[in-house]
Amino acid sequence: MTLTGKNYIAGLVSSNGRITFKGVNPSDASELSTTFYEATTDEVNEAASKAHEAFATYRKKSGKEKAFFLDTIADEILNLGDALIERCSAETGLPSGRIISERARTMGQLKLFATVLREGSWVDARIDTALPDREPLPRSDIRYMQKPLGAVGVFGASNFPLAFSVAGGDTASALASGCPVVVKGHPSHPGTCELVAIAINKAIEKTNMPKGVFSLVHGASVEVGMAIVMHPNIKAIGFTGSTRGGMAIFQAANNRAEPIPVYSEMGSTNPVFILPEALKERSQEIAKELADSVTLGAGQFCTNPGLVFLNNDENLQKFQKQTAKHFEETEAKAMLNKGIKSAFDNGIEHLANNKLEVKLLAKGKSSIEGFKGSAHLFETTAKSFILRDYLEEENFGPSTISVIADSKEELLASARKMKGHLTATLFGTENDLNNYTDLIEILEQKVGRLIVNNFPTGVEVCHAMVHGGPFPATSNSRSTSVGTAAIYRFTRPVCYQNFPEHLLPEELKTDNPLGIMRLFNGDHKR
Ligand code: NAP
Repeated sequence: MTLTGKNYIAGLVSSNGRITFKGVNPSDASELSTTFYEATTDEVNEAASKAHEAFATYRKKSGKEKAFFLDTIADEILNLGDALIERCSAETGLPSGRIISERARTMGQLKLFATVLREGSWVDARIDTALPDREPLPRSDIRYMQKPLGAVGVFGASNFPLAFSVAGGDTASALASGCPVVVKGHPSHPGTCELVAIAINKAIEKTNMPKGVFSLVHGASVEVGMAIVMHPNIKAIGFTGSTRGGMAIFQAANNRAEPIPVYSEMGSTNPVFILPEALKERSQEIAKELADSVTLGAGQFCTNPGLVFLNNDENLQKFQKQTAKHFEETEAKAMLNKGIKSAFDNGIEHLANNKLEVKLLAKGKSSIEGFKGSAHLFETTAKSFILRDYLEEENFGPSTISVIADSKEELLASARKMKGHLTATLFGTENDLNNYTDLIEILEQKVGRLIVNNFPTGVEVCHAMVHGGPFPATSNSRSTSVGTAAIYRFTRPVCYQNFPEHLLPEELKTDNPLGIMRLFNGDHKR
């Protein structure tokens, strides 16, 4: 399949800009074929205007029609075949096996939203019928449901070129809710972005959706993204990426004449607590799993366990030696791009230079080829962790810091001191967990997902998943970016009071023609 390097604006290709860039293979730093054209402000404006126009039609599509659209996008992504796997692997340095499983996950999330749309109850319909004889005042008929917000700007991250990119979670949830999307392509995988845009445009044709429901604009500078954020027709933003980028976008959106909701999913250090009995009984197994989890995909996961809390007891040294050995044996792996690799190296240097507070316990194998990063294991004390904010910051890549507590009180104080994270994990026996319920209570207030005896790196796409958490993990702790609950980021409740039956949305008609679950006069029923 031939790449054009152009922007895809409401079904038409466009390359009016003079700024161009190329994809780079991070395994050997070589430039890849195809020149990509950064979108001009006029092109971004056109994409946002077309999205707004398309909203008038798309918001009225039935659940079944939108489900067919999402299913068809998934099928068309699969139809891209090896061309997608090869280009994506070349642009990210990620092995083809990882890309194939990420493609399955991306298709899976589109298809899961399709099942939610076909079933229909997601609209959260609530009906309070009129009480004309109520004293002292009668009550009108009042009905409520979720409705889409309007065009959504989507920013994907470099580390999930499919699952958090052009047809990733944010696009899937926005399209499911009835919102058109304008995607800012990630400059780390522009060819992958174009291929997925081709698949979405085929699905638009096949399912007869309005063309403006999807646009992709390329950009390697922040101006393109900012033009999306500031456009008056954009009504919400889904962002996945760095804290710096997420906060810049959040602040810009809040300073608009009409502020809009921004769901920035940002960095996290995902604290892991290894409790005393688990450390004693499963030291070897946990050490191996920890090293695997930290170094998986060169550590480039937002759920990477970057902090490991341990008690300073007689089992500590054995565990640290086992973990260090695994880190030392780890090969250097390609990081996603030059910027991420140099940010990681700077972070490592910063930690290594703070010798009074931080000790380097182990370093993995190194390589000067491409943008390869080496695994690092550091150690600090809970006393230092409580005093020094930098020890809690994400260093995106294959590294982690063990934090050693001299007492349970120090461990709890460390947890109390923590900011928001995506996840927190406890490794413990039944006894351990019963002895640390106070820790669990603290962590519940700090994270979106609490895990027992699993590492946090895998994020299941399902109905009950929460991939979010208090600031600074996200800019809005009241939602998730993974799982079907993500649909509510792009909707708002609308209430219909005293409406004639024939003007009500199908979901709210008294005889329930769609057969969905509703809260009817206080009872959940179909
Ligand atoms: P990034 O550098 O922030 O890039 C994300 C996107 O935002 C890119 O398209 C980038 O475009 C754009 N962008 C960044 N700063 C901007 C600004 N000031 N104004 C406008 N646009 C801006 O992030 P990344 O390096 O791709 O991703 C790695 C980070 O994402 C890690 O910190 C990781 O933990 C986090 N992440 C979080 C989650 C989660 O769910 N919480 C999931 C995956 C990754 P340009 O490059 O053109 O500026």
